[in-house]
Amino acid sequence: MSVTVRVPAKVNVQLAVGAARPDGFHDLANVFLAVGLYDEVTVTAADELRITCEGPDADQVPLDHTNLAARAAQKLAARHGLAPDVHLHITKDIPVAGGMAGGSADAAGALLACDALWDTNTSRAELLDICAELGSDVPFSLVGGAALGTGRGEQLRPLEVGGTFHWVFAVADGGLSTPAVYAEFDRLTEGVEVPEPLASQPLLDALAKGDSTALAAALSNDLQPAALSLRPSLAGTLAAGTAAGALAALVSGSGPTTAFLTRDAPSATKVAEALLASGTCRTARLAASPAPGATVL
Ligand code: ATP
Repeated sequence: MSVTVRVPAKVNVQLAVGAARPDGFHDLANVFLAVGLYDEVTVTAADELRITCEGPDADQVPLDHTNLAARAAQKLAARHGLAPDVHLHITKDIPVAGGMAGGSADAAGALLACDALWDTNTSRAELLDICAELGSDVPFSLVGGAALGTGRGEQLRPLEVGGTFHWVFAVADGGLSTPAVYAEFDRLTEGVEVPEPLASQPLLDALAKGDSTALAAALSNDLQPAALSLRPSLAGTLAAGTAAGALAALVSGSGPTTAFLTRDAPSATKVAEALLASGTCRTARLAASPAPGATVL
């Protein structure tokens, strides 16, 4: 028997980053929006824990026990006194190390799939606890939709979304390491008073109304200067999408994927074509939001 779970990528429509805490983490006000780009995780009973991966970036995904999906299966098994003997197969469509929470998506997917395969009937609250232990973005991958994350980003409050938003994601060559981007943020803000991170009310209102123009005006990412500092060529990608008519452009999370909010689906197609023609990205993907969280197929 096999179970397959589909899990969306995310874009941070607001990423407000506070000063580094004594434990090295940063307090965040993180507005997550799930977008319709998906990984699928299929789990099948096996003699031992094994991982395989297919997709254009599959060669960049670790196939050992450092894979977040494997760690999710191990954690769930340990809670229930089981052996994590499953074959985890990941069909990867979310860019790897792209700031779109691909690894987190696979972890949430593996957790939900193993819970169904093993009949462990884990409560939603307990699944969310395990997600938070696995990483700051993992709880959101489970719930999807839109949510405000506070703390390290793992304490979630669901948000209302009143319409569909049309995005283009420009995928860069190579990834950026999230810890490296935070370290660059710390370097760039050294000696600067970093304000307490707070969610933007105009942004939350724009989401609730489904108003793309208002959302475009309110998008923000405090990690963008750090990502641009490490990868200056991203400025050219942002400019190419804006010149093609995107309502707004920003770095997605820690990058290097860049996100372009557009008026409607035809405009998204135009922006994607222009981005590809500009030669400033490896590929351009269309996706609508919000998307549902991890779902058993
Ligand atoms: P985030 O947006 O949550 O910061 P990201 O999208 O930038 O994350 P991921 O795709 O999650 O980055 O991958 C970051 C690193 O994690 C990869 O370079 C890889 O070494 C490791 N990793 C572990 N498990 C996975 C997985 N299932 N898929 C992809 N990468 C994984």
